[in-house]
Amino acid sequence: MSRRLPCTAALRPHFAPAVIAWQRTHGRHDLPWQRSREPYHVWLSEIMLQQTQVSTVLAYYERFLQRFPDVRALARAGSDEVMAAWSGLGYYSRARNLHRCAQVVVDEHGGQFPRTAQALAELPGIGRSTAAAIAAFCFGERAAILDGNVKRVLTRVLGFDEDLAQARHERALWEEATSLLPEQDMTAYTQGLMDLGATVCTARSPRCSHCPVQAWCAARAEGRPEAYPVHTRKLRRSRREHWWLWLEHEGRVWLQPRPAHGVWAGLHSLPEYDSEAALQADWPGPLIPWPSISHALTHFDWLLHPRQCVLHGPEPRPPGPGQWVAYEALADWGLPAPLRKLLASRGPV
Ligand code: SF4
Repeated sequence: MSRRLPCTAALRPHFAPAVIAWQRTHGRHDLPWQRSREPYHVWLSEIMLQQTQVSTVLAYYERFLQRFPDVRALARAGSDEVMAAWSGLGYYSRARNLHRCAQVVVDEHGGQFPRTAQALAELPGIGRSTAAAIAAFCFGERAAILDGNVKRVLTRVLGFDEDLAQARHERALWEEATSLLPEQDMTAYTQGLMDLGATVCTARSPRCSHCPVQAWCAARAEGRPEAYPVHTRKLRRSRREHWWLWLEHEGRVWLQPRPAHGVWAGLHSLPEYDSEAALQADWPGPLIPWPSISHALTHFDWLLHPRQCVLHGPEPRPPGPGQWVAYEALADWGLPAPLRKLLASRGPV
């Protein structure tokens, strides 16, 4: 049963001014990407911040910009170079789309990002909310954002208890978000909504007594903020298990390119097998078992069993595609985070 409160009209005069005033005094102002309204910088930060915490992005953002200072530098880089710079941030489809997007901006837009949310949303890897954030931050466009944090804030304030798993309800929430937009101060408003969702209206234990919109918040009045947002389609997590063949020869490791699609596409990794028997059929020599690695991805938990073999003498030729890579050169290679950690346990990577 829907009990959505008809409160948008009553809320409208107060909501945006309260968010803007709060952002100016309590919001985040010192993040490196906030120093710039340059679309390349804002776009890069928005893509990095999708599904990744600010604290993690901080370590990558500046380094990435040093390596690829503008969209043209990123567009002409090799994909291995881009994947290496992204290595460890996870969700690697973002990096592939980032690279493609840079090439489209250079090839089709003369190196300039389009200036409207609608045109930005046509670019690879830029969804509606990200497009709106870039347009609001860089060009002051009145465009609503609706990422996970903002959905939480708005459904709670509005008491919006429709199921967001259904597209029509999500569309209705977009309309509500649009109706709440201020006439001006889009930068402070957009940043304020993001900050509110990240620091006050958190998924668990929201700090309602510190919230600038508490007076108009339906979920707070009901005493059940955690009941929002309603989303019935839950991810069903599965479990996978694989064996890694870790071949080492004269200070080098044998790396294979990952398949072009699927998990860690575009990165390099160790040869991977469905079972220990399959691994041993390919490589019958003596193996050193390393402690198993548990790695959580969005849809499944992955258990990986590294099996090491240290080789001496003439250069061996392992089965399948791949190449020998010196340990000291691994920083230039795009590796999955758990593999980089594993190889670093043998020495600096
Ligand atoms: Fe979220 Fe509480 Fe603020 Fe409502 S009052 S928006 S539930 S933090």
